[in-house]
Amino acid sequence: MQNKNRFKRLVKNNCACYLGAKHGIPNYCCLQDGPCVFFSQNDALPRCTYFENGVLPTDEKLEREYTSERNVGTEFKTAKPRVNCTRCGETFSANSNRQKYCEKCRDKNANEKSKLRMRQMRKSRLDVTL
Ligand SMILES: [Zn+2]
Repeated sequence: MQNKNRFKRLVKNNCACYLGAKHGIPNYCCLQDGPCVFFSQNDALPRCTYFENGVLPTDEKLEREYTSERNVGTEFKTAKPRVNCTRCGETFSANSNRQKYCEKCRDKNANEKSKLRMRQMRKSRLDVTL
């Protein structure tokens, strides 16, 4: 993570909890009652709820970097149920747990069903008129 300096700058300029040097502590954070987590020697990006909710949204570009770096908010989007197609048996990721057919078979199935429906209808009509 080479961009930590940009996060530090954002904290310095926009974080309401960042008070600079205070009580003899450099980069003092009033929430931590100690140094701001972004100014630790650690290379990894720290987590700070106040920063994520109140400071980060002011910098759209940095926010995108931050979320892609730690995959914040993407855990749920990828959780699609794996289902075996009832028709061809192929495994596919369904959009809902009621989906029974893969994309290829869904169209074929709909076609066949409507064909069958039409045949039935014509037959019953003939029965009536004859
Ligand atoms: Zn299928």
